[in-house]
Amino acid sequence: MGTGDPAARDASTDPGGPRPWSSIALAVVDGLAGTGPDQLLAALSARSGLACRPVTLAPPPLLEPLAGRPQLDADKLLGRLEEAARALGQVPLVGVTGRDLGVPLFTFVFGRARLGGAAALVSTARLRPELYGQVADPSLVARRAAGEILHELGHLAGRIHCEDPRCVMHFAASVEAADLRGDRFCPSCATALPPGLAPARDAAGERLGPSPLRPSA
Ligand SMILES: [Zn+2]
Ligand SMILES: [Zn+2]
Repeated sequence: MGTGDPAARDASTDPGGPRPWSSIALAVVDGLAGTGPDQLLAALSARSGLACRPVTLAPPPLLEPLAGRPQLDADKLLGRLEEAARALGQVPLVGVTGRDLGVPLFTFVFGRARLGGAAALVSTARLRPELYGQVADPSLVARRAAGEILHELGHLAGRIHCEDPRCVMHFAASVEAADLRGDRFCPSCATALPPGLAPARDAAGERLGPSPLRPSA
């Protein structure tokens, strides 16, 4: 897929292929926004059959801004997390940050991962309801972040974007679209994932959040 293809927006190819996973390690990078680490771990544990555990990266990964923009360079930070995952022997490693993430081609990304990679990166910065004129809701931010994490874990497991609009592997360019797709894998994605990662959604699916959302001025 080309770089202009939305399917390539947050995932590029790393010819490693899916590997068996025993746990998901969650590392908070430079703090969270809109929710807390315990709430996020609980939300992720509720959606995944694998053990989810916090890890502290020491030294913390280098944070590099995207040139000319008030954002972290998502690809550079993902590279640091991949190095940390290999050094720790922990795959997958998920870095979560409250800082806004960007890449040169897109104004922002919710997350970043490479197909078959060792680590994923997710930001809670744009998952906060107050950014869209709604009241703060740490539990909603945790559920949204868990959905984004599962999406990126799907990429690590080798899944590309899914055409099922109610599958968490469906591409979403906005919080509203992410809420619509929900935080569950469709049956066909679920069966292709590492054993135990996540149960498939029921037939009805489920959306997150109180949308419709409108960006505040
Ligand atoms: Zn994606
Ligand atoms: Zn799917």
